[in-house]
Amino acid sequence: CGIIGYTGTLQAKEILLRGLRRMEYRGYDSAGIAVQTEAGLNVKHKVGKVAGLEAMVESMDIQGVCGIGHTRWATHGKPSERNAHPHTGCANDIAVVHNGIIENFASLKEELIGRGHIFSSETDTEVVAHLVEEAYDGDLLAAVQAATNRLAGAYGLAVVCESEPGVIVCARKDSPIVVGKGPNGALVASDIVALIDQTRDVVVLEDGMFAKLTCEGGESVIEYFDAEGCSADPEVTHV
Ligand code: GLU
Repeated sequence: CGIIGYTGTLQAKEILLRGLRRMEYRGYDSAGIAVQTEAGLNVKHKVGKVAGLEAMVESMDIQGVCGIGHTRWATHGKPSERNAHPHTGCANDIAVVHNGIIENFASLKEELIGRGHIFSSETDTEVVAHLVEEAYDGDLLAAVQAATNRLAGAYGLAVVCESEPGVIVCARKDSPIVVGKGPNGALVASDIVALIDQTRDVVVLEDGMFAKLTCEGGESVIEYFDAEGCSADPEVTHV
């Protein structure tokens, strides 16, 4: 239902929670975040309100400047802790948040299980994490491109992995994704309201498009790619 992602110089936990609160008006049944920390991806889920997730992670030491978050409106798999996003692959080193419905998830899941993948949720989304995990060969953008090639249905996606600090890859088809750069980093969201306290200059991704958000040495960069993987230069909208 609601997607947020941040890479920059500030603590991601606070920014992700703030973004999720901004999208609460949309309705949801659970919420979660994944933050890149020195010890790997730290993924936390909670059924119910963002306030509950916030209360849970408040006292936790989750240090990191890049991460993704989600508020879920369950379509496949009941509202529960293990069905809440972000979803990870087998090794917990890829995390995915997703809006929409993966229509061919059942056949993909069967295929992935046949190749030894172990699933930990009942969602359609989890196949995306396993597909990215399987395709990953040191390049998250390429892995997300390969994974989305297999998907039928609607998706807005934001993906992070353990081995590429400060990198978020986003993709969309029939589900909105907007990206923008603020003074302290780059952001992705499914809804402009989640970005406007950071930036009013946004790019609304077109169907089939990918964005790669990075932050290195305090400098955030957003690169765009079309469905063929060629670099793209989409129009910036001032809101
Ligand atoms: N289909 C996904 C699920 O049930 C995503 C739902 C959403 O858009 O929040 O987990």
